[in-house]
Amino acid sequence: MATGATSIPKPLPRVSEELAPFFAAARRRQLVVQRCDDCGTLRFPARELCAGCLSRRASWVPVSGRGRVLSFYVMHQVYHPAFAAEVPYAVVVVELDEGPRLTTSLVACGPAEIRIDMPVEVTFEDRSDQVSLPVFRPAAAR
Ligand code: ZN
Repeated sequence: MATGATSIPKPLPRVSEELAPFFAAARRRQLVVQRCDDCGTLRFPARELCAGCLSRRASWVPVSGRGRVLSFYVMHQVYHPAFAAEVPYAVVVVELDEGPRLTTSLVACGPAEIRIDMPVEVTFEDRSDQVSLPVFRPAAAR
């Protein structure tokens, strides 16, 4: 890829009204997921209906930020110029200790070092004045 591609900003997620509590929590360095107000099922990403009981009532609740790598894949192609300097990079699916799964990034860990089931913990990357993204880093075994 051309030199200078790293100056292209990475695309930011749209902070919809539905996701505003998630991003507000991330600014406070807190990871939250939705919990059904009726049956307690945790879910991420946000959904209108509970998969457990079809309730529409839910609240955002903090979770530990700890989990394990459930699966991952390594991107070798440049699909967006903002990521050109980072290929190859991994996209990981983290299963939180509480159950919900997030598709995210692993930092402080090269693609060759990632292992299924490795323990990880959340950290946050500030991408703009409004948007901080939860990403994960290797955690001590427990
Ligand atoms: Zn429910």
